[in-house]
Amino acid sequence: MMNISALVHSLRCSLLHIESRLLQAAGRTLDRQLAPALAVNGPGLLPQLDGEEELEEQHHDPERSPDLLDGILWMAAPKKRRTIEINRTRRRAESKILQVKNNIEPCPECGHLKQKHIMCGFCYAKVCKETALIRQQMKAMEGGPLAAPSVETVVLYEGEAPSELDKDKRIVERARKRPAWFS
Ligand SMILES: [Zn+2]
Repeated sequence: MMNISALVHSLRCSLLHIESRLLQAAGRTLDRQLAPALAVNGPGLLPQLDGEEELEEQHHDPERSPDLLDGILWMAAPKKRRTIEINRTRRRAESKILQVKNNIEPCPECGHLKQKHIMCGFCYAKVCKETALIRQQMKAMEGGPLAAPSVETVVLYEGEAPSELDKDKRIVERARKRPAWFS
């Protein structure tokens, strides 16, 4: 007896559920709790609202109903694929080809090729290296950071003597001959 009563109860529940779904689909009773949470501007598949609710909806948004695609920024998109010939014609256009340079000459110091108005990269690297060595020597002389003296610094190479103008300046002596390219 218990099994039969439970079966009848479950059948009744499912029938009620199906009935409520059918009524909802037919639009007779548009229950607030059963209505979909997200309203989409569809092509009339969903049941239309009744008179008062429709008026209320129109009063809420008189121009048009909110659209799902309102917040999307539409960008220009190509409508047809461009052929490889057209793409290569654009990529290999005359304005995009590298121009031949006629302003190249050998460096007067080292002989490497360089552009006329641009400093020689090899000479610049040599100067950078020598300057870094001088800076290391000054750091060792100072013995730590924030200990630089407030006077000017003169770099003297082997066989050079300080002149009259370098009296009050700090002298950094390098244990090598002065390179020809470093002055
Ligand atoms: Zn050079």
